[in-house]
Amino acid sequence: MGAKGRPMTADSLLVVVSGPGGVGKSTVVKALVDRYPELWLSRSWTTRKRRPTEDPEAYVFVSREEFEARIEADGFLEYAEFLGNYYGTPVFVPPDGRDVILEIDVQGARQVLRRETEAVLIFLQAPSQEEQLARLRRRGDPEEKVAQRVQKATQEADAGRELNAQIVTNFDINETVEIMWSIIEKARAAQGRTGL
Ligand code: 5GP
Repeated sequence: MGAKGRPMTADSLLVVVSGPGGVGKSTVVKALVDRYPELWLSRSWTTRKRRPTEDPEAYVFVSREEFEARIEADGFLEYAEFLGNYYGTPVFVPPDGRDVILEIDVQGARQVLRRETEAVLIFLQAPSQEEQLARLRRRGDPEEKVAQRVQKATQEADAGRELNAQIVTNFDINETVEIMWSIIEKARAAQGRTGL
């Protein structure tokens, strides 16, 4: 058992991927775990409604009551409120002792890093603000939500730069996945992990 609520195997590496909205975090992270079976992606809980085009597996979609009951039961490694909805990482045990990827916002990243000092933090950023805006719009959120997310993304970019993160610019998904894997491999080697 690690710090409160982290029953991870002692030798699992914890990789936190964060970054402002619209940088393609979830696409990149999905490609990363599809390519490298050494990694396991934690599935978050959220009280946000599922977007019509969104994969039903993207999150565990729950009510505020269900989320708050899990907070009470100490069932989250971290959680945060983001634009009026809760998002949280449920306490987990990674299957087969695999290394763990968390894709979370900067508030969550800060909480995890306070407790897990060995965690690796990768902060993704967009190649340009135009690209980031276009991505936020493509999600099909109403314009008012897009505006809130744009404002939030600017704050997050500043907050992320203050954390001691490895900053990766997402110019090209394949290239980004390989850069992230090389960061992770280095950390795995430093902890003496080589196989699965
Ligand atoms: P979205 O609504 O775009 O899916 O997610 C909004 C933000 O919440 C993103 O920055 C995403 O990375 C973050 N997020 C997703 N899951 C979690 C989580 O479990 N904890 C925290 N703190 N943030 C999360």
